[in-house]
Amino acid sequence: MKRLATILSVLMLFGMAAASCGQREEPFRAYAWMSGKVSMTDEVLEDYFSRAADAGLSGIFLECHGGYPEVLGDSTAFRDSAALVILRRAVPVAQKYGLELHAWMWTTNRCEHALLEAHPDWYEVNGLGESLAEIEMYNRKHYRFLCPTHEGVAEYLKDRVRELAEVEGLTGIHLDFIRYPDAILPYGLHESRGVVQDKVYPQWDCCYCDQCRAAFKAQTGIDPLELEDPTACPEWMQFRWDAMAKLADGLLAEIRACGKVASAAVFATPEESKKLVRQDWVQFRHADALLPMIYYSSYAQPREWVETASREGVEALAAAGNMARLYAGVPVPRDGDFRQCIALARAGGAHGICFFSLEGVARNPEHWTALKEALAEIQ
Ligand SMILES: [Zn+2]
Repeated sequence: MKRLATILSVLMLFGMAAASCGQREEPFRAYAWMSGKVSMTDEVLEDYFSRAADAGLSGIFLECHGGYPEVLGDSTAFRDSAALVILRRAVPVAQKYGLELHAWMWTTNRCEHALLEAHPDWYEVNGLGESLAEIEMYNRKHYRFLCPTHEGVAEYLKDRVRELAEVEGLTGIHLDFIRYPDAILPYGLHESRGVVQDKVYPQWDCCYCDQCRAAFKAQTGIDPLELEDPTACPEWMQFRWDAMAKLADGLLAEIRACGKVASAAVFATPEESKKLVRQDWVQFRHADALLPMIYYSSYAQPREWVETASREGVEALAAAGNMARLYAGVPVPRDGDFRQCIALARAGGAHGICFFSLEGVARNPEHWTALKEALAEIQ
């Protein structure tokens, strides 16, 4: 009963109770992502969180394990002590200002050296047979994606979830990078990254590790490495969508089992996500909230795309019977027009919005006022 009570109180906090009674109407909520560091003092947290609460945000997604995770203590240990320090310091400050606090962690993209040392075989392999444990895809040191078909990967990540859930008072756990590497980068980034991706090329197409090849061959009789055009093989695409959805859903279910709100940051629309990063997020069925990162400039789209992309996501979730809330992930508008961003997300049917990032809001003092005014109008 105690666990049930905890889960219910957490769901109430996240605005989920109305949904379970069949009432979809609830206030539009606004959040922000923020990066966390061990060195972040109480004063810094006080400053950010007090302003966030004053502006009308409901909560913060605080990054506690990113591309360059900090290491405290034993560098060969898997336990993420740095993440726990970051969260334990932030929770009381968030509570003081009535903010939800969600632990934001990178998921399949894991860069801890201890893991790389212990399990280099767990990392994805591209169509040229190169392991992401060894190469730097897109010249990024932190591009180290784990393969979802390895049982050990799922267990390792569940351990990390359970570890974060130990933090008393934490509202939820938020999965980022729960996907394959970019087979194709979002279209607005090709020129700046110096890539030509008019179709899928093998150096960016994953996972061709021995285990995935064997599993797919047992299922279909096909070695995916021999496919001339892997994207033209529906079974091979489906295999990867399913593998990632299974991993994601298992982790989201684990978050819920720990009494925390389960959410994930996903690519902008269901179709683009499947195409670019093999992420079929409509099948993330144990998510309480999904946050498509509708970073319109990265997709060479105008800001109005926030509405279109939100609608596509909301409709796809409804069609699949997935009850997750959709919060539109939107970059902080340089012109300070938070009102327009919120209006677009609402028009697209989103249940809320999440700005990237809180630091981006803080960079311009006028942003706090503009955000507060925009949020006050919809209360
Ligand atoms: Zn694999």
